[in-house]
Amino acid sequence: MQVVLDDYTQGAVLATELANTSPTVWVVAGDRLTDIEAVQSLLDDNDVRSSAPTGTHDLEQVRALRDRLRDILDAPAPAELITLTHDALSVVPHRIELTEIDGEWRWQAATEKDCSLADELTVLTGYALLGTVRALGIERFRACASPTCNGVFVDVSRGGRRRYCMPGLCGNRINVANHRQRRRSPGEA
Ligand SMILES: [Zn+2]
Repeated sequence: MQVVLDDYTQGAVLATELANTSPTVWVVAGDRLTDIEAVQSLLDDNDVRSSAPTGTHDLEQVRALRDRLRDILDAPAPAELITLTHDALSVVPHRIELTEIDGEWRWQAATEKDCSLADELTVLTGYALLGTVRALGIERFRACASPTCNGVFVDVSRGGRRRYCMPGLCGNRINVANHRQRRRSPGEA
C-alpha cells in the first residue's frame, strides 16, 4: 500500500471509524467488527484499497490495531500521542519515498509486499494522525460530546467544530437511546 503523507483526511477518518467499532463504544450491541466482512465493508465505505489478503487472523490484528488507535486518540498530550504513533509505525516494514503523482512530487510511505492488512492500516492511520497533529493541532483529538457515548474522534473538518464521534447517531437522542446504553458503574442494574 502507498500512503501519500500530506493527505491525512482519509486515514484520520478511518482511525476514528475503526476506533468507534469497539465494544467500549457499543456497550450493548457489542463489537461492530464481528467478522472480516465487517472489516472489508469499513474499508469500502472509506474507499481504502488494500492489497493484503483477508482472513480470521486479519480480523484479530485489525482489532488489536483498533485498541492501539484508541490509546493514541485518548492520549492526554501531544508528546504521548506522537510517541504511541511512532511506536506503532516502528514495527511495520515500510519506507518513505519521493514519488511523482499527477506531475507533483510528493512524499509517500510504501509498505513492504508481505505486510498484513493491519500493517497497511497502521501506516495509513499512523501517518494521518501525525499529519493531523502537524496541520491542525492536538485540539482536534476529542471525546464525543454525547453524555451517553464513550466514542472519540479526530476532527478534520474545515471549521473544526465537530462535537460527536458519529454525528448522525450521537447528535440524536432517540437514536442513542435505541442503540446504546449509558456507561454503568459496577453493581448498577
Ligand atoms: Zn459518540
